[in-house]
Amino acid sequence: MEIKYTNYADGVHEFDFKVPVGTLGLGKPFFGNLNLHCKMDKSSSQIVLDSFFDIGAILVCDRCLAEFEKIFSGSFELVYLFTKKEDLGEDDNVYYLSPEESKINVKPDLLEFVNLSLPMKILCKEDCKGLCSKCGADLNLVDCNCNKEEINLIWAPLLKLKD
Ligand SMILES: [Zn+2]
Ligand SMILES: [Zn+2]
Repeated sequence: MEIKYTNYADGVHEFDFKVPVGTLGLGKPFFGNLNLHCKMDKSSSQIVLDSFFDIGAILVCDRCLAEFEKIFSGSFELVYLFTKKEDLGEDDNVYYLSPEESKINVKPDLLEFVNLSLPMKILCKEDCKGLCSKCGADLNLVDCNCNKEEINLIWAPLLKLKD
């Protein structure tokens, strides 16, 4: 995932990478290949690198515990400056390239953004109904009667009062 920028004239150049997740050191839940598309805009003072990736993952839903596959995609922009700026420290996505260097390696930043693309809460679908806390039935598939009975129990004393 290296781009030897010294081989390219100023202007826009595009690159595609397809790498097995294992080669990137990415284990579970990721699988298959990671696709990366990079758009490099090179000028005499800097390189702006826009990257777009997608990667497949096998996840387990937090609510219904079903296993499902999902493709995650993301994008990020990195800037590489040819002249050193004093106040570079604050911005994580800006780098300095010394005249001795000839290539940029997207991999470390890519891995960071790939890991960030995984959500904190994993749901098979936005409105997953989850499992019934009483009988364990998958409420996406079946409609168990536990909740209905519970409502009956709650209302039973009131119904008696009514009588
Ligand atoms: Zn679910
Ligand atoms: Zn139930």
